[in-house]
Amino acid sequence: MKYIDEFRDKELARKLGGAIAAAAAPDREYRLMEFCGGHTHAIFRYGVQDLMPANLRFVHGPGCPVCVLPTARIDAAIALAERHGVTLCTYADMMRVPGGDRRSLLKAKAAGADIRMVYSTQDALNIARARPDRQLVFFAIGFETTTPPTAVAMKQARAEGLKNFSVFCNHVLTPPALRAILASAEPDSVSIDGILGPSHVSSVIGSGPYGFVPVDFHKPVVIAGFEPLDVMQATLMLIRQINEGRCEVENQYRRAVTPEGNRKAQALVDDCFELWDRFEWRGLGFLPSSALRIRNEYADLDAEIRFPVESGESREVKGCECPSILRGVKRPTDCKLFGTVCTPENPMGSCMVSSEGACAAYWSYGRFRDADTNEGRAA
Ligand code: SF4
Repeated sequence: MKYIDEFRDKELARKLGGAIAAAAAPDREYRLMEFCGGHTHAIFRYGVQDLMPANLRFVHGPGCPVCVLPTARIDAAIALAERHGVTLCTYADMMRVPGGDRRSLLKAKAAGADIRMVYSTQDALNIARARPDRQLVFFAIGFETTTPPTAVAMKQARAEGLKNFSVFCNHVLTPPALRAILASAEPDSVSIDGILGPSHVSSVIGSGPYGFVPVDFHKPVVIAGFEPLDVMQATLMLIRQINEGRCEVENQYRRAVTPEGNRKAQALVDDCFELWDRFEWRGLGFLPSSALRIRNEYADLDAEIRFPVESGESREVKGCECPSILRGVKRPTDCKLFGTVCTPENPMGSCMVSSEGACAAYWSYGRFRDADTNEGRAA
């Protein structure tokens, strides 16, 4: 297949749905976690769940960069902009996520802070170049996919001698979060039979870093592309592994993912960042070696050194179930605020804001309204 439409072909989807139904053993349940919010949205947007047998359930994972950021880091970003009077730039979704006091960057901007939405690190660099009299802080978020562009911007700033550009670093790592979910001994931890591995993240890190999943947790992984037929083909590959008792890392997304990943991007990231001993994740708590911080060699570009702010404790809005949703333990419809107090226009938690959040996916595509969905039947 060469073009995007071919990955959304109805007839092929029906055939794949039939193959999945034929492969799924009727006497067992299949709980497959899609780690990445991009997959969650593909599943809901294209009605993939409706094409699955009743005993197959997709469990939504924490792979949404905006969703996993704890409120303490949002509060710190707001404090950075307000107390130090810098221009703070970040990606769109981040602007509307409520912090600990339900204050978002957008509300802080409305109150007078200089906070701007950018589409790329290059936009942020351009603002810094245009206003050398103002300090610009780029509020960097995201998994392994968005880290290389941050590294490129840091190197460009260094090469150009830009003295008014720095980075508030919040880049997180996929494998430690996956490990934390699989290793969770919490009484309410979710039971998972297989993992749909991320697409874009894997194009950077490769398929190699998921090797611990079969070895340490005896679960199969299939790296899947973001199109509906990708998700369905990867689902079929997972079912076959589970039925045959195999636990391997397989790669459905071979058109973009290799075992070793993008070495050039990895080298860039290694040059600018190092492992942070621990970092807080919304829903998962403090995880060891699960995020990156700026290396000492680039300390002049580290906003947390240049513009220190105290970090408080993270607090969720009362009643918001984002932490449980991010661990796959609950679904958006389990939250009493879903669709009542909390909507995309008035989000109470990160999962309703982000274009990759599970609550936003449920709400946007309205499939929760159909009582006869497979998910409803599987519940
Ligand atoms: S519906 Fe809103 S309040 Fe409930 S879990 Fe989702 S984001 Fe949080």
